[in-house]
Amino acid sequence: MIPRAAIVGVGGLGAPAAVALAHVGAALSLFDPDRVELSNLPRQPVYGHDDIGHEKAARAARRLRQTHPNADVSAHMTAVTRENGADLLRGHRVIVDATDGMEAKVLLNELAVELEVPLVHAGVLALDGQLMTIVPRRSACLRCLFVELPPQDEMPSCQQAGILGPIVGAVGLASAREAYALLRGEAAPLENQLAILDGAALRWRHIQLRRNPRCPACA
Ligand SMILES: [Zn+2]
Repeated sequence: MIPRAAIVGVGGLGAPAAVALAHVGAALSLFDPDRVELSNLPRQPVYGHDDIGHEKAARAARRLRQTHPNADVSAHMTAVTRENGADLLRGHRVIVDATDGMEAKVLLNELAVELEVPLVHAGVLALDGQLMTIVPRRSACLRCLFVELPPQDEMPSCQQAGILGPIVGAVGLASAREAYALLRGEAAPLENQLAILDGAALRWRHIQLRRNPRCPACA
């Protein structure tokens, strides 16, 4: 059986990641409760005008099957929540976090640790992107970095802070590279490393990480 990747969020990050992973023959599960909006089109290249108003996951899967008729792609028009998350994500070889907002990212981190499924964390805000890969119980997780979380209303989402299409696309494609390594059973380049893309200077820098014994998720 081809190892399967779960892509949570098929927007600016998840759409390019899904295309790249479909190109290398990965089996994919796409999760997104949203519908395509006009404003999505500039940075979400799997959708066109005829997709507006339709469910993202279904339309992205349809587009991938048009390019790759044998592709094994399933579409789930649902949000991943605390209640359904374990059932939806269990059995995947890797989870790609392509969501928007810290709450969803913290939840996916928890689920990945709980299920012991590697997680590629990707995020973009304004001109900056970040990426890291979490191999549960082996490498630092998101909460190893953020033991305390800022209050919900102090964390801007992409919708509030805005994002730049080319930057989100670059981070989305880089997340596919991480997932590809894990699908092949290889070490991901960004295990125990936080890669930060400075979109203004177009420079990546890397911060070495280690597991935090006070981590509320994986310690
Ligand atoms: Zn941790």
